[in-house]
Amino acid sequence: MIGAWRCRAAIVCAALALCAAAARPAPAVAQQSGILELRFLDVGQGDAILIRNGGKTVLVDAGETDAIAARLRQLRVDTIGLAVASHNDNDHIGGMDAVLRALPVRYYLDNGFPRTTSIQRTVLELVRDRGVTYLQAGPRTIEVGDARIRVLPSPVAGRSVAQNDHSVALILERGAFRALFTGDSERRELAALVRQNEVPDVDVFKAPHHGSRTGILGAFLARARPEVIVISVALGNPFGHPHAEALAAYQTPGRTVLRTGQDGDVVVTVDSFGCYEVRTARSGPTVLARGGPATSPARRQHEKRP
Ligand SMILES: [Zn+2]
Repeated sequence: MIGAWRCRAAIVCAALALCAAAARPAPAVAQQSGILELRFLDVGQGDAILIRNGGKTVLVDAGETDAIAARLRQLRVDTIGLAVASHNDNDHIGGMDAVLRALPVRYYLDNGFPRTTSIQRTVLELVRDRGVTYLQAGPRTIEVGDARIRVLPSPVAGRSVAQNDHSVALILERGAFRALFTGDSERRELAALVRQNEVPDVDVFKAPHHGSRTGILGAFLARARPEVIVISVALGNPFGHPHAEALAAYQTPGRTVLRTGQDGDVVVTVDSFGCYEVRTARSGPTVLARGGPATSPARRQHEKRP
């Protein structure tokens, strides 16, 4: 599906109409009717991903600071159906308390890892006090309008395992479109997901752990085969992210690699067939990558693997 813009012949007329809708500039604030918006927010060093579809809103991680609440208001988010903490490090849930105070949140899902930090305790107290329904990550599918999110709890067990390898992975699907987020997973979790045959062929992949070398696994990338990789990372961060080894692994011909720190918000719009387009705050209306429902024999063959 690399470089593809192929809509199935049987649905080509309708698909083209919808793809034309998707071709309009990404909205500055509110989402377009009929279009799923997947927005990787530029929150500095951390993750925050906003998914909106059919009037439903999902927030995956909330960055490190309370600034996320103002960003969400700017984007006209007034309710969050589901908030997910991929794991409980500060750069992922540091702003979650502000979100819970600022907005009604219906469900909160995390990795169920024991309370270890003050921010985690604060967030879970707010979840309880505000009547938010707590969900521990288990294999489940959550409907988001006509899209769905498949929850993949970390296959790595044991309390001695670092938070990063306890990251909850999510697969977002709409039509033929798929995106994969694995929090700050490192090789141990990535390898376990590969062993369990949990890694699908995807269109968009959020680089694990802000482009750290610890999040590179050739076997994982060979399975996921993303056309677009988004690295959520601050410019000039003290960790040296993204590492050169990660960029070398990610930057292959036909693939688009974007970084929130230098590109601003990365916005993927997806129509009901799975036709998608990618823009950034920096690119404005210019489409940086696009793809369509998979028709390539390579992808179909890949999906038939046991
Ligand atoms: Zn992180």
